[in-house]
Amino acid sequence: MTWDQRAALLEVKDLKVHFPVRTSLMTQMVQGNRGQRWVKAVDGVSFSVARGRTLGLAGESGCGKTTTAKTLVRLYRPTTGQVVFEGTDIANLGGRELTSFRHRAQMVFQDPYESLNPRFNVQAVLEEPLVIHGMKSAKERLARVMETLEIVGLTPPSVYLSRFPHQMSGGQRQRVAIARALVLRPSFVVADEPVSMLDVSIRAGILNLMKQLIRNMNMAGMYISHDLSLIRYMCDRTGIMYLGRIVEIGETDDVVRKPMHPYAQALLSAVPVPEVTHEEIKVPLEGEPPNPVDLPPGCRFGPRCGRRMDICTRVEPRPMAVGNGRWVECHLYRQTPDQADQEMVGNE
Ligand code: SF4
Repeated sequence: MTWDQRAALLEVKDLKVHFPVRTSLMTQMVQGNRGQRWVKAVDGVSFSVARGRTLGLAGESGCGKTTTAKTLVRLYRPTTGQVVFEGTDIANLGGRELTSFRHRAQMVFQDPYESLNPRFNVQAVLEEPLVIHGMKSAKERLARVMETLEIVGLTPPSVYLSRFPHQMSGGQRQRVAIARALVLRPSFVVADEPVSMLDVSIRAGILNLMKQLIRNMNMAGMYISHDLSLIRYMCDRTGIMYLGRIVEIGETDDVVRKPMHPYAQALLSAVPVPEVTHEEIKVPLEGEPPNPVDLPPGCRFGPRCGRRMDICTRVEPRPMAVGNGRWVECHLYRQTPDQADQEMVGNE
């Protein structure tokens, strides 16, 4: 099943990332592996991203969006499922193949101050990945570094080469972090809350920069945030995550203007979208998400859902196509058997 209709650079199929819950040595000796419990951080997500397009992932803290992002750049290994990047499943890459993949897939982290080595100046920060990936000529490396600094708007580049992270503003540091992600000219970039640590006054500049770069350099992008107004600005498609599942995904305008899943509706109620045409739906979001180690039977959003039905406590909803490349995991949009048959034919 492919979520985006365009030719995908990255296809994620039923991805699961589970982490073992640590137990005491005594428990391990008594129970062995029998009592092993798992945190289901990502629990069966599927989507694709095409070149020139950006997919946003939104949801509360702990919903699995950062784990998904880190798995896409192989900072975590998938437990099961596939991450197919340019036709190759990256799950078991090693050695040179993994290095080559890392060349093409990069991540921008939330806190530029923590993600940059304080003992490296800008030139050293940006040259390091070039050295690791085999660019031997110092002259070529310097030219690439200068060019990349220009791309991210740190001009004239020569002024910034010798600066250390503590000698720059938050916005300049995040531009350096973006430059480090771009210096290898990747085809896929994931940004995890890249402006949440920055002043509001400089957020727009960073967001505009990232949006333009993804389009101009024909990369595929992924943008992770809990702020739906930023997702709306940045992303062509948007997925809403809840407890390890994508409960709704579709074109950003469709999802933000008229969310269908009760959780997406609640999330949009909580995050004001400054647009007069936005269809305002007030859906309270009560309670806390259940423990990801002990998920409730049926729909995992059930205990917090005001529209819960009998079937919701018994049967876990599966993704259902609702038109225009949009999918919703909710029994409110149950298909008739005829519709399900048609959908299967369409996916074959
Ligand atoms: Fe609510 Fe049921 Fe839909 Fe879950 S499946 S979101 S409980 S209506």
